[in-house]
Amino acid sequence: MGYWRWNKQSNDAEYRRETLDNCIFCKIVAGAIPSKKVFEDEDLIVFHDINPAAPMHLLMVPREHIATLADSDNRHQALLGKMLLIAPKLAKEHGGGYQNGADGPTGGFKTLINTGPDGGQEVYHLHLHLMGGPRPWRG
Ligand code: 5GP
Ligand code: ZN
Repeated sequence: MGYWRWNKQSNDAEYRRETLDNCIFCKIVAGAIPSKKVFEDEDLIVFHDINPAAPMHLLMVPREHIATLADSDNRHQALLGKMLLIAPKLAKEHGGGYQNGADGPTGGFKTLINTGPDGGQEVYHLHLHLMGGPRPWRG
C-alpha cells in the first residue's frame, strides 16, 4: 500500500506508526532523517530542500502528517495561516526578502504547494516551497 493512501486525519497510534515508517517528511520531523533545519515550533518545521530549485529553497512542513492540501480541513486553518504569515520573515532571513522601496519593488520569493500527480506532488506530506534569491532560477 502506498503511503499516499493514508490520508485520514486522526492521531491514533497505528496511523502515526504507519506514517512514521513510510513518510520521509514524518521521519525528518521525528529527527530520524537529518535535515538542515532553519526554524521549528510546535506546529511546523522548516528546512532546506535537498535539491534546491533556487538560491533559497526552503520547505515548510507541518509536524502533523497531512497528505495533501486537499486533505486539510477546518482544524488546519490556523496552521495554514501561520505558514503563509511566516513566509516573508523566513524569506528575508534567507536571501529572498522582498522590498518595496522608493525605486520600486526588488527581491521577492515564490510560495508553492503542489497537490497530487497533476500538481507535481512527489512527497505526500503537505509542504510549502519557499523559493527566492537572485534570478535566474528554474522554479
Ligand atoms: P513536491 O514535488 O512533493 O512538491 O516536493 C518535494 C520536495 O522535497 C522536492 O523539492 C525534493 O527535492 C524535496 N525532498 C525530497 N526528499 C527530501 C529529503 O530527504 N530531504 C530534503 N531536505 N528534501 C527532500
Ligand atoms: Zn508524513
